[in-house]
Amino acid sequence: MFQKVLIANRGEIALRILRACKELGISTVAIHSTADSNAMHVRLADESVCIGPPPAKDSYLNIPSIMAACEITGADAVHPGYGFLSENARFARILSEHKITFIGPSSHHIEIMGDKITAKKTAVELGIPVVPGSAGEVKTEADAKSTAAEIGYPVLIKATAGGGGRGMKVAHTEADVLTAWSTARAEAKAAFGNESVYMEKYLGQPRHIEVQVLGDGQGNAVHLGTRDCSLQRRHQKVWEEAPAPTVPFAEQMEIGEICAAAMRKLKYSGAGTIEFLYENGKFYFIEMNTRLQVEHPVTERITGVDIVYEQIRVASGEKLSLTQDKIQFNGHAIEVRINAEDPQTFAPSPGKIQFYHPAGGVGVRVDSAVYQGYTIPPYYDSLIGKLIVYGRTRDECLQRLRRAVDEFVVDGIKTTLPLFQRLIQNKDIAAANYDIHWLEKFLKDNKA
Ligand code: ADP
Repeated sequence: MFQKVLIANRGEIALRILRACKELGISTVAIHSTADSNAMHVRLADESVCIGPPPAKDSYLNIPSIMAACEITGADAVHPGYGFLSENARFARILSEHKITFIGPSSHHIEIMGDKITAKKTAVELGIPVVPGSAGEVKTEADAKSTAAEIGYPVLIKATAGGGGRGMKVAHTEADVLTAWSTARAEAKAAFGNESVYMEKYLGQPRHIEVQVLGDGQGNAVHLGTRDCSLQRRHQKVWEEAPAPTVPFAEQMEIGEICAAAMRKLKYSGAGTIEFLYENGKFYFIEMNTRLQVEHPVTERITGVDIVYEQIRVASGEKLSLTQDKIQFNGHAIEVRINAEDPQTFAPSPGKIQFYHPAGGVGVRVDSAVYQGYTIPPYYDSLIGKLIVYGRTRDECLQRLRRAVDEFVVDGIKTTLPLFQRLIQNKDIAAANYDIHWLEKFLKDNKA
């Protein structure tokens, strides 16, 4: 097992990892920018190193500074959390060249899954169902027309290097396919410096359903069931549930087993999430995230598995402590993301938290790094906390969520808590009757 882990992140996820390390008896090193000197992860870690000025590119994304922090503190492993360098194959490679363990998959697996076309090809080879589409890049206008005709309209043109929903364009008829193709390429070039695009069947009313997997790199892998993350705004998840409420249990286990088998074949190491769109009873692979996800706690709550603990264990060379037959699924969990944002316009709302009282009580978990008197800096993402509630049934979970959201107080800044008060009262939410477009439509129709 490791002696000392450097946590290359900030905010709630840095705390989440720190807590797991403490429970495992591992010393912790926090890194921070000059804007985060008073952050909770810095206060709670055994040691801390300032790695640069506020902008992320100069601090949390600054590989030389982070390598220097490893060197100074003698850390033998790095946990990247999510975001920042968590899916940076180069960072994983540099660490391994310095005999420091990257707590995550191999740089090779990060690379395969980081490119949408190779990810999709790999998924097909591994027997994971994918969205019907082009075999690879769509390079010419003639290609765009013939591929679209083959797939059938509407089609979606997506950037190979895509992320965050950028470089994506829908074409409904042959009349718009060339415009969609050229705009997607231009956007992809501008956003990612790579104009390569591919094409998929556009699904009209899918749900976003994902499968959590864990592997040990020695050919053992398990799945921890599904999550529904369809409630999104601008492709950002806002509310997540486990298990996926509308998918029959047998179907969840079937797709879970397909994913676990694929990870065994790959000899995948660490935590991963295989994301699907789900429509008319069918799953279609869209991407794999080779890291811990923001929404991992809902899965932890219904399975009792500590995902971060397992990540650390397998990275240290141990076998998975779990076998599939030992994993039980109990009850229902929902996570809502509390962002420092205006609940109507979603404009960021950094500033000082004057009063803070998190919800508590039976079935409630709060993962946050804020405290009363803390000033949220304007430089980073606006997530300030995650409220995770559990119930034996989804109805009980919703009742508890209502109670917990009412109890939660964050004064001094605006947060998305009032949005959740509105969502909990909605009939579609109560009936779990929503797809990936539902929230955007709700926000448009319910402008205050
Ligand atoms: P990114 O990496 O940019 O987030 P994804 O492939 O994960 O790209 O897709 C982001 C979102 O775009 C999905 O969550 C879904 O809302 C939508 N999307 C992607 N592929 C399709 C598709 N074939 N049909 C309909 N919507 C899609």
